[in-house]
Amino acid sequence: MALVVQKFGGTSVADATKILAAAKKAIARQEEGHKVVVVVSAMGHQTDILVDLARQISERPSAREMDMLLSTGEQVSVALFAMAVHALGREAVSLTGAQIGIRTDSTHTKARIRSISTDHVRKLLDAGKIVIAAGFQGIDQDGDITTLGRGGSDTTAVALAAVLDADLCEIYTDVDGVYTTDPRVLKEARRLPSISYDEMLELASLGAGVMHSRSIEFAKKFGVKVLVRSSFKDVPGTMILPANQSPERPVSGVALAKDEARVTVENVPDQPGSSHALFSKLAASGIAVDMIVQNVGQQGVADISFTVPADDLPTALEVASGVARQIGAGGVSHDEGMAKVSVVGVGMERAEGVAGRMFSALAREGINLRMITTSEIKISVLVDRADGPAAVEAAHGAFGLDAESTDGGIDPSGLPHAKAAPLDVVRRLEGMEDLAIEDCQLDSSQALVTFTELSDTPGVAADVFEEVGRAGLNVDMIVQSHPRNGTAEISFTVPAADRDRAIEVAGRIAASRGAKVVEMPHVSKLSITGVGIRSHASVADRLFKPLAEQGVNIDLVSTSEVRLNVVVAAEQGEKSLAVLRNAFGLA
Ligand code: ADP
Ligand code: ASP
Ligand code: MG
Repeated sequence: MALVVQKFGGTSVADATKILAAAKKAIARQEEGHKVVVVVSAMGHQTDILVDLARQISERPSAREMDMLLSTGEQVSVALFAMAVHALGREAVSLTGAQIGIRTDSTHTKARIRSISTDHVRKLLDAGKIVIAAGFQGIDQDGDITTLGRGGSDTTAVALAAVLDADLCEIYTDVDGVYTTDPRVLKEARRLPSISYDEMLELASLGAGVMHSRSIEFAKKFGVKVLVRSSFKDVPGTMILPANQSPERPVSGVALAKDEARVTVENVPDQPGSSHALFSKLAASGIAVDMIVQNVGQQGVADISFTVPADDLPTALEVASGVARQIGAGGVSHDEGMAKVSVVGVGMERAEGVAGRMFSALAREGINLRMITTSEIKISVLVDRADGPAAVEAAHGAFGLDAESTDGGIDPSGLPHAKAAPLDVVRRLEGMEDLAIEDCQLDSSQALVTFTELSDTPGVAADVFEEVGRAGLNVDMIVQSHPRNGTAEISFTVPAADRDRAIEVAGRIAASRGAKVVEMPHVSKLSITGVGIRSHASVADRLFKPLAEQGVNIDLVSTSEVRLNVVVAAEQGEKSLAVLRNAFGLA
């Protein structure tokens, strides 16, 4: 006998007929001899309707009352779902988040789960009942109802699967799995038979709406097997697995975040502490920044740009302007009409020329890249919002994602696969959803090359990295700054073995384009690895603060959900490693 958690999204329970059809799926699992917990979302667009109602009453409704309101959607659907199971002749009990004992912090409308008690649910399961749990909601220490953020029922489902040690968590939705990109944006998108936790985490966090990214944090931390499948068609879905079980390919998917904004703090005094002042204030306002780019300081000042979801722009601007005044920076500029396109793949690290291939594909479409950042398993570019869908199509085609998939062998029932073990770091966590940092490592063998005064025209990055690719250079991090006065900067790092050639090639490229090259032949790269690094806004704070206090200047940053890299001067590597290990409790 196994334990299966099934989650049904809004469209899967949009009316009585659909609720009855979903109830049959739960009963079918029980008839196979398994214990079944069902997590249900609000019916159809009910949550949107409630949000809209609140806005008609008040422009800024209280977050506590918002949670009181929004949690009603799921209370309706669990009751109806339990009635549907009864009508089909089986036993079921519906439970709210509070009744289950889903304890959260008090961050209304985006609360994080601290703990879940399992006693009550286990008793009901042992008594042969199907347990119907309300998704998206919990209760804080004062007994107030909280919600987990839009799309949060996925997170309830995977978190329940984690604490109940379920054999499988099935996510029933309106697509038949995870696709190489949103099938509503690109018809050539293809279903992936399987995908790794890291890739799904990154894709979800970068805009692929099919899973709530926090649910994948739970999956990875606790080793939960997740199967995404269709509510309406009996076809195989997508299994989300540990990386070592997933197939090798340079790129698995493309994500589009279509409402992004870019903020630049100009002429920031180039000294330790400037970044910290900015990112700690942003973190304190609950804003998770994504692409962070700092250009090479000139005459003691540098520009720091970062991206945020457009919804967070007003707060981000308020914070950035305050910090700019405080640290004596020039001013703050911004751009609202941006989209972020990211390609993600764990195989990228070992494949050659992935970045060049992506930039060239976008250049062929005449798409201008406003900013670029990369990490080991993703490349993100910021483009004008109108270019978003074309950029997705170009990137998707460039990596052959529209071709037939070759990886098979995933059993659609999902049950026979072995489960992954929880990560070691989980035992050290106080709250289930706390940030999980696994390790911090130092690589002191890199060189940093920066082009300055590159003309800001489509195809610049493509030309540079095609040439770099032809030279066979092993590029690691790539960053392109936001252009100012018609010129942009591109930086990249290479391993020591490629240093001399990189400097020579860069010189040649710069000469032919009227640009300049700035080299730092010896730099240190520090990498912090874990789960949920970007979405926990506090990481930047915890990273920048101790480094600033020790007088360490950061030359390059790249963030992702599973890794944060910073480049510092070589001679500060060892010191920085000690500082960070201490800051993240990795002594
Ligand atoms: P639910 O209500 O079941 O939680 P969602 O609307 O949250 O469903 O998620 C399903 C939707 O996610 C799909 O209809 C699809 O348009 C969108 N989506 C975005 N990116 C992807 C992707 N890479 N693969 C599949 N679906 C995606
Ligand atoms: N009903 C909530 C929402 O629409 C939670 C969910 O469906 O996952 O955001
Ligand atoms: Mg959803």
